[in-house]
Amino acid sequence: MKIICIGRNYLDHIREMNNEVPEYPVFFMKGENALYYKDLPFFLPDFSTNIHYELELVIRICKVGKNIEEKFADSYFDAITVGLDLTARDIQKECMQKGEPWEKAKSFDFSAPLGKFIPINASGYPESIQFSLEKNGEIVQSGDSKNMVFGFKKIIAHVSKYNTLKTGDLIYTGTPAGVGPINRGDKLLAKIGDQELLSLDVK
Ligand code: ZN
Repeated sequence: MKIICIGRNYLDHIREMNNEVPEYPVFFMKGENALYYKDLPFFLPDFSTNIHYELELVIRICKVGKNIEEKFADSYFDAITVGLDLTARDIQKECMQKGEPWEKAKSFDFSAPLGKFIPINASGYPESIQFSLEKNGEIVQSGDSKNMVFGFKKIIAHVSKYNTLKTGDLIYTGTPAGVGPINRGDKLLAKIGDQELLSLDVK
């Protein structure tokens, strides 16, 4: 399976990072090694001093597809949850300055903690799906799927032009504003609405 991550998909986050609004969904990938879905603590890696959380809605692909048309895209995912696109911001900055790829900063081991999935109905899920992240009991990020620059269907249509989507693939659909660092001892809790789907203890 593969993990596809969308960048620059919420205007407030684009602004906080001083980026430009993209004309098409910008994406990159994480390897399977990035998955982390057991209720275990997360150990900060020693190669970075600035690991950031990015809270994102994650959809799960339920059948194989290539060149998927937008009007059929809804039937290609069957579940949703929240996930963290953990990012070594210091290394990402360095890679960008040198024009190098991002994998060191984005696809390191356990960099994609994933919540419990909720089934989603392709024929009628709400346009507005609200999600939030608490750090040590305080809300640090909150988002709403209706504010995505590119919605689920557009993302699936675009990504599947270049990459065949397969059952079990995950798409992290971008983060809203409020990204920030995690430190040893932090407790993260992520929700969709009131449902607690992901918790992470940072060690
Ligand atoms: Zn992200």
